[in-house]
Amino acid sequence: MKNEPAPRKIRRRDKTQKREIMFHGIPASPGIVFGTVLILQKTSLELLSAKDVKTIPAAQVPRETARFRKAMEETQAEIQTLRDRLQASLEPHEANVFDAHAMIVGDQKLTGEILSVIEKKQLPAEYAYSQVMQKYISTISALPDPYLKERALDIKDVATRLLSHLQGTVRNHLDKLPGPRILAAGDLTPSETAMLDREHVLGIATESGSKTSHSALLAHSLHIPAIVGLSHFVECLENGDKLILDGFLGIALLNPEPATIELYEQKAKNQAKLFAELVRENQLQSETTDGYRIQLAANVESTDGLADVKRFGAAGIGLFRTEYLYMNREQLPDEAEQFEVYKKVAESVNGQPVIIRTLDLGGDKLAKAIGTFQEKNPFLGLRAIRLCLARPDIFKTQLRAILRAGCYGNIKMMFPMICSVAELDRAMAIVDEVKSDLQDSNMRFAGSMDIGIMIEIPSAALMADIFAKKVDFFSLGTNDLVQYTLAIDRNNEHVANLYEPTNPAVLRLIANTASAAGKNGIWTGVCGEMASDLRYIPILIGLGVEELSMSPIAIGHARRLIRKISMADAERIAAQALQAPNAKEALRYSTDYLERNMPEILAAVREG
Ligand code: PEP
Ligand code: MG
Repeated sequence: MKNEPAPRKIRRRDKTQKREIMFHGIPASPGIVFGTVLILQKTSLELLSAKDVKTIPAAQVPRETARFRKAMEETQAEIQTLRDRLQASLEPHEANVFDAHAMIVGDQKLTGEILSVIEKKQLPAEYAYSQVMQKYISTISALPDPYLKERALDIKDVATRLLSHLQGTVRNHLDKLPGPRILAAGDLTPSETAMLDREHVLGIATESGSKTSHSALLAHSLHIPAIVGLSHFVECLENGDKLILDGFLGIALLNPEPATIELYEQKAKNQAKLFAELVRENQLQSETTDGYRIQLAANVESTDGLADVKRFGAAGIGLFRTEYLYMNREQLPDEAEQFEVYKKVAESVNGQPVIIRTLDLGGDKLAKAIGTFQEKNPFLGLRAIRLCLARPDIFKTQLRAILRAGCYGNIKMMFPMICSVAELDRAMAIVDEVKSDLQDSNMRFAGSMDIGIMIEIPSAALMADIFAKKVDFFSLGTNDLVQYTLAIDRNNEHVANLYEPTNPAVLRLIANTASAAGKNGIWTGVCGEMASDLRYIPILIGLGVEELSMSPIAIGHARRLIRKISMADAERIAAQALQAPNAKEALRYSTDYLERNMPEILAAVREG
């Protein structure tokens, strides 16, 4: 055992030798870029070890003390928010825990000691803080009294919370990059991605994540080439290294040779040419050879994405993800601000439909303004409609804004993460309440707005026949539907190979949904990433899906495919896939067909 080579050591590169090295990851957002690397260091939630520390010049001490004081205030506020949120469901002694935590953060003696370490030892705030807290934690843990031992855990919890605020500020400069850069990071959260300096970010390469991570989806919408799931990547880089990032194939090339750069420049040129061709085709109908119209709509995350909707010829907006409006800010967006945004979105598409999805925060999408809170399983936690039903104040503000904006275009409303009929009924009752409030105050609003639900939890797909009698449309959120059906975390690169959308269990849920919709006279769309992957389109439309909503840049390829396939063929492929014993065989019916009938369309997407 002892003689076995340590794999990590072998992989570790001698950074002084700038050789070309290829890394393989998961392609998350298409495009090719060549540029300089900027590494985003991990936000460690562990207390920091003194051995890595560098001292700071005396002139920087006031900045560090200010950072520490700010982190203290933020932590106090966070603890208060948590306490308020959980007030109703807590026993008095449980609520006391929050008070104890707040006291630790506000303790004057402790604060004085930390400030003094920053000043006297000239340490950055997080190191001074770690040093002092570590001292207390180890003293208290060594005490024999089990009750006191337990308190060490409280102190550690509080310390971790405060440290995350301190370190968060380090990554808070993502909106001002020092120049054009490819960002390399262990992880990048959706709110960090939303904050990125668009002018300067060339590409994103992360170690964690998968194709359907929200950061990847956002990068796609923003046309930022991205690769995720690059294992042991960041440890091989230095700031300033040169990198080619191929978001089509998921390849990152470090220190590329001149010949490689030339090859990729040519690829990028071909890509630009193809892009221009697809834009020229944006007025063509997306209709199968036997005359079935499939609506190709756009997924949009912010008003910045509206120009693309027209440019790529989308038939409206199939998913407007409103949660990004709530991120990276101290205050929640009020009704007036939301109204203006939704109105602008509705007006931008000249009467075409716009589906505004109500808030889907939670999971990996967090917003400071709502209060960050720790959940053991956030994707199974207080996410989306659950959060809205728990916070009717926030929900009602958004509903008022959507209903009012409905007078300025063809807006439809959609609830995410519905898992039971009771939940839908509660959401609908709140909509009714909001409508009558608007009426009482003589406000104009769209009284007969269509309301749909996302089908992204298996329970909803199985109950589609009941839901179909209560709503105007279904939109399948396949990113989550796959995750929840197969019990595979959509953000986890370690199980990304098991995340197979054509698992027949998923296809049967889709079939059940579309068939229940058809029988009840409502329509079904797909707004998850399955809609934009050409390999899945024949199966989806063959199962009865009538609208595919995707990142606008994917629409051109989808349109080409639909114009070359017949519905009869799609239905045959779908029927075969439903009967397949596993995901790979189910997929093969579709890929074999596409390879035979339109290899050039597949190649264009794969290679760029
Ligand atoms: C989905 O789950 O497929 C979806 C479209 O919603 P989101 O990706 O925002 O969770
Ligand atoms: Mg979802």
